[in-house]
Amino acid sequence: MIDLHSHTTASDGSCTPTELIGLARERGLRALGVTDHDTVGGLAEAALAAAAAGIELVPGIEISVDYIHGEFHLLGYYVDYHNRDFAERVAYLQENRFNRNAVILRKMQETGLSVTMEDVEAEAGGGQIGRPHMARALVTKGYVGSVQEAFDRYLADGMPLHVPKVKLAPPEAIALVHRAGGVAVLAHPKFLEFPDFAQLRAELQRLKDIGLDGLECYYSQHTEQETADYLAVAREFGLLVTAGSDFHGVSKPTVPLGIIYQGAGGDEALLAPLAERAGRTRAERCSVRSGAG
Ligand SMILES: [Zn+2]
Ligand SMILES: [Zn+2]
Repeated sequence: MIDLHSHTTASDGSCTPTELIGLARERGLRALGVTDHDTVGGLAEAALAAAAAGIELVPGIEISVDYIHGEFHLLGYYVDYHNRDFAERVAYLQENRFNRNAVILRKMQETGLSVTMEDVEAEAGGGQIGRPHMARALVTKGYVGSVQEAFDRYLADGMPLHVPKVKLAPPEAIALVHRAGGVAVLAHPKFLEFPDFAQLRAELQRLKDIGLDGLECYYSQHTEQETADYLAVAREFGLLVTAGSDFHGVSKPTVPLGIIYQGAGGDEALLAPLAERAGRTRAERCSVRSGAG
């Protein structure tokens, strides 16, 4: 049995990577996917623990994607987590996932503009903080004459305090996973919250066309009907099928590790096609690299 979707303390899970591998062993899992939100920080420890426990680690990540509605999470399997460019890119995504404002403020201070979070909060009057309040704080402090000038000189695209859009759009996220040699799988399609299956199907076709490799058909919170629909559409579009619990430990106590569908874990037979696809992606990537010199 396998489980390809779990979280550690590197993101919002409650088990350390070592504890998680220990639990996987107790549950009798042959392979475990560790897929923390926007970070590969737990994978090195998980790899050591998995080797010691005789469990196959499927290194992964779950990237939060910018999307029109619902929750779009992209799983990246077999990403090269030693790749510094990739690790830095996702570290940046994670940092900005929660505190884009803090990043802008730090940049202000680095630029010699003495504005604090308290200054900005005062401008926001207790509401949610955004760039307009940053701009007003710059006006109040006398660094600029107007909010417009604050944007033109500092906050607009290409200016020193500009922090780009935090989340990636679907094509960017898929490309990021592919560049790191990984396989891009849409997590829990249920949470995209399409009003009906036909619309989800059309969207999956579009995603497949831009490079999506697989679909998490088996998921601890999918119903039997949903699972059947997702399996059918995966077959129709030639998408890989994966299975995951989305285990978080005590932060999500109703979801046990290794229990995905009808009280059991995922089928081991799902693993080989996934690994094979990763191998192919990697081979293509290397040939592109050597071709580029
Ligand atoms: Zn998710
Ligand atoms: Zn998850």
